Amino acid sequence: MTSIVLFGPPGAGKGTQATRITQSTGLPQVSTGDMLRAAVKKGTPTGIAAKQFMDAGQLVPDSIIIDLIKERVKEPDAANGLMFDGFPRTVPQAEALANITEVTHVIAIEVPDSKIVERICGRYSCSSCGAVFHDKFNPTSTKGICDECGSGELKRRADDNETTVKQRLNAYHQQTSPLADWYENRGIFHRIDGDREIDNITQDILLALK
Ligand code: AMP
Repeated sequence: MTSIVLFGPPGAGKGTQATRITQSTGLPQVSTGDMLRAAVKKGTPTGIAAKQFMDAGQLVPDSIIIDLIKERVKEPDAANGLMFDGFPRTVPQAEALANITEVTHVIAIEVPDSKIVERICGRYSCSSCGAVFHDKFNPTSTKGICDECGSGELKRRADDNETTVKQRLNAYHQQTSPLADWYENRGIFHRIDGDREIDNITQDILLALK
């Protein structure tokens, strides 16, 4: 069984690479950010509790996230492993995950802080298939039409603005980056330079997974 954690700051390209890794490995993508956004949209109790933290660019409390993951791993498609995108983001989340399933690879996509704001503020995604694009670095071939499914509406995220991005980066450095040591000590941590062409990054990730 292969269970992957995609690790890195907001805007590192985790979502973009997750789509490609899913295509190559068949592992389902589990994005806690996507799950939370869906819960907010539906107005579930989880969504209502999470929204204030998401709008402020802060991490949602561990108990909410861990409950979401505990439910997700029960689904049949999780039997051969999962690819976690944006989870875990704190040491308690990593400890909880270790009790749920064995993580075999942690792929850390590294991008300097100085590049993050431009990367996040220019991005948009397809509301139907989730494919991620960027005004400058990865535009759709035809304006307004998703390259992957051709039918979904292209949207920007409410929290992809400069003020919130700075707060999210802060949360990353304070609460999430200490996890790098936690995983490095377990010998499953692979650093990938994320400040390159998308295809080159994918190639290196697939090599690390072999
Ligand atoms: P993302 O789509 O991964 O950038 O996540 C968007 C927002 O959802 C984050 O800024 C957090 O507020 C929240 N979030 C997503 N995943 C987690 C997590 N594992 N732990 C805490 N908060 C999370």
